[in-house]
Amino acid sequence: MSEEEKGKEEYCYLCRRSEKIVGKLIQLPQNIRVCQDCLQKSIDLIEGGNHPLFNGMIDPSMFMGAIPPISNVPPMNQRRKTKEKEQTKKEKNAKKGDAVMPAVPVPHRIKAQLDEYVIGQEQAKKAIAVAVYNHYKRIRDDGADGVEIEKSNILMLGPTGSGKTYMVQTLAKLLDVPLAITDATSLTEAGYIGDDVESVLSKLLAAADNDVDRAEMGIVFIDEIDKIAKKRNTNSRDVSGEAVQQGLLKLLEGADVEVPVGATSKNAMVPMTTLSTRNILFICGGAFSGLGKVIKERLNKASTIGFSGELRDKYDKEKNILKYATAEDLREFGMIPEFLGRLPVVCTLEDLSRDMLVSILTEPKNAIIKQYKKLFAMDEVELCFELEALELIAERALEKKTGARALRAILEEFMLDIMYEIPKDDTIGRVTITRDYMEQKGAPGIELRSGSVRALPMQHG
Ligand code: ADP
Repeated sequence: MSEEEKGKEEYCYLCRRSEKIVGKLIQLPQNIRVCQDCLQKSIDLIEGGNHPLFNGMIDPSMFMGAIPPISNVPPMNQRRKTKEKEQTKKEKNAKKGDAVMPAVPVPHRIKAQLDEYVIGQEQAKKAIAVAVYNHYKRIRDDGADGVEIEKSNILMLGPTGSGKTYMVQTLAKLLDVPLAITDATSLTEAGYIGDDVESVLSKLLAAADNDVDRAEMGIVFIDEIDKIAKKRNTNSRDVSGEAVQQGLLKLLEGADVEVPVGATSKNAMVPMTTLSTRNILFICGGAFSGLGKVIKERLNKASTIGFSGELRDKYDKEKNILKYATAEDLREFGMIPEFLGRLPVVCTLEDLSRDMLVSILTEPKNAIIKQYKKLFAMDEVELCFELEALELIAERALEKKTGARALRAILEEFMLDIMYEIPKDDTIGRVTITRDYMEQKGAPGIELRSGSVRALPMQHG
């Protein structure tokens, strides 16, 4: 929210919660605005005869224009009951939804927006755009025709640093919905030390500024989901991973869960609220290393039954073998069938190639190189990179086998000296980072503001 919007935001005069959270405020005389809840409480207290508010602070008569005559107002608990009767649960959901429902663009527009940030991963972006579009359509549907649309929770398979988390973060930002990210390895069965599976909902509630309606339309991303697979090829029953999968089942499907407000663990001092997970989109992600082997075994078995040794060769060399994953393979890997059944959309992210890494450095809206250029531009220095220099950074990142994660650290190391030296000399107009400089074979290219070229006596290292 911009500072300007924040300034315009209205707050309840009594409870100080914002209009965004409590719904439309009721205007009272003297330009005082209160929320429905506080107004109701006030009416009840007027009926009871005393209210701290009326100890001279506010003239009770000012409420009178806004509230019906007291004799016509039933006591609050009775009012609530009648109101609840009037609304079926579905109607209530639909109404709630209207207030906080994100404006969801059509799939090709979602993908186009993701394209501005996420390089490559075309198939995954497409699958996610469609799943998200359908997910929010499902929330809008009142199910009146008896056809109930199933939830489209998503399972993302892809190597470390290929953009799984980043894609979900970008998506949540684009849709302006709250997002909670958790690590499956930190989750435990209820009753054990660690976060129980429901703790992620507290994080979501916090991300929604404790606005239950907004949280109920949010996204939960559970990373490292492959780490809670059942252990394969062991005789002892592995309970930990399987139990966490079991624990997650009801959340994925939709349940009403008691969640502590403003804390991640339940204790007597923390107020609780109920959160329904029916409309929360769950996205699970994992690198699933080891799944490739399972897939290859299956594919090779199939190709030995046929005649194609050629095919077998092809699969052995396939870099993005995860794209051939089936539910059967995932089950073999250790995911329980009920769990997989609740993640009907499966998409795969590719291993990032050198060229993709170069694009990640330069193309996204918030690309790292763009950030460095901006920093230099503030000192009126133009920063340039030779393509070969960018390729070297990408090659170094590939060696680390952590996908795009390594890029920033590698670049930062090279840039430290440059960022230290350049501001010393305000005659410098342009710096070009060369591969030679990065390989410690030469200095960066320097052009002065006057237009002449100069060698800077500096080498990286
Ligand atoms: P993981 O797949 O392990 O969840 P992340 O999404 O955390 O990987 O990626 C780490 C960082 O690398 C991100 O913050 C992002 O800056 C960058 N990144 C990874 N993949 C991409 C991509 N395909 N396009 C753009 N940036 C990416």
